[in-house]
Amino acid sequence: MTVMNDWVPAKELLTPAQRVIILTHISPDGDAIGSMVGLGNALMSIGKQVIMAVDGGTPSNLRFLPGSSEVHSNLDGVTADLVIVVDCGDEKRIGKVGEAARLLNLKWINLDHHATNTGFADVNIMDPAFVSASECVLRLLRWLGIDPTVDAAQCLLCGLVTDTLGFRISAVNAETFGLAQQLMAAGANLTMIVQNTIARMPTSALRLWGQVMPTVQIKDHVAWVHLTLAAKKAANYSDESGDGGLVSFLLQADDVNVSCVMKEQESGKIELSIRSKPSFDVSTVAFSLGGGGHKQAAGATLEGTLDEVEARVIPLLVAVANSTSPIT
Ligand code: 5GP
Ligand code: MN
Repeated sequence: MTVMNDWVPAKELLTPAQRVIILTHISPDGDAIGSMVGLGNALMSIGKQVIMAVDGGTPSNLRFLPGSSEVHSNLDGVTADLVIVVDCGDEKRIGKVGEAARLLNLKWINLDHHATNTGFADVNIMDPAFVSASECVLRLLRWLGIDPTVDAAQCLLCGLVTDTLGFRISAVNAETFGLAQQLMAAGANLTMIVQNTIARMPTSALRLWGQVMPTVQIKDHVAWVHLTLAAKKAANYSDESGDGGLVSFLLQADDVNVSCVMKEQESGKIELSIRSKPSFDVSTVAFSLGGGGHKQAAGATLEGTLDEVEARVIPLLVAVANSTSPIT
């Protein structure tokens, strides 16, 4: 999708709306919950009623965010004037709350930064140059003249910190630090965010890493590993709490340009988490597999066994990993 900066129509939809539903993607991360709750808090601060929802509610690791306990897991009995979806480039990824919201026959705004965004809303604000959906939210708030409260700033900075892996991805530029400066000046606590997100993993994830590390495969500049249901069970690990960034860890190997973690789900499907070093683009491979994401971080969910998915996906990743040279 091309870049869309429909700030004016977004304002036209938002200004008269009194009750606003805000949704984000399933398996929400720090940017998904941070952007949703940050925007929700900011809109409440100017007198709007806000209903926030995501399938499964707020994951336990993100409940440190102020206001995250007000996030619902369904839209039962809800009426509203407008739907805003944050951090989601594909309507299917909103899951059941998205289906419920469609039944309300409302206008939709999408605030996002996924290069693979399908433009599913009435008004789409999407720029892959935004390092996080929370950057998109903050820019909308600036455009609307709304100063983030301390709580909104905390949530939006969480999105900025987690999606940039602590200001380390190549999309980070001088303006990113300007956004972070604004949020910290508004009262956001960087240490609290870092300690609860990028500097933390569940102990069960560490046990899982210990189990699967000997099974990591490296070939033609691609590193990958299977997370079987059996391994997850043995480590007492659940996907909901996060794997501590295993796929990013694999990518650090100096001979690796693309990494992939293949997670077996209870449903029998295989969830792929894919990462690449700057100059290698994995978003198009993910999109071709029915998923999506960013150039350097993408994913998809596929039918089949781990071995079948591996046989299908690894040649595609090998092609990307050998398409150019890494920046050194
Ligand atoms: P992660 O590996 O952290 O789960 O996902 C990396 C990126 O890819 C995130 O931006 C996430 O939203 C996106 N992504 C992961 N799986 C899918 C998918 O099935 N569909 C789409 N559209 N995006 C996905
Ligand atoms: Mn994001």
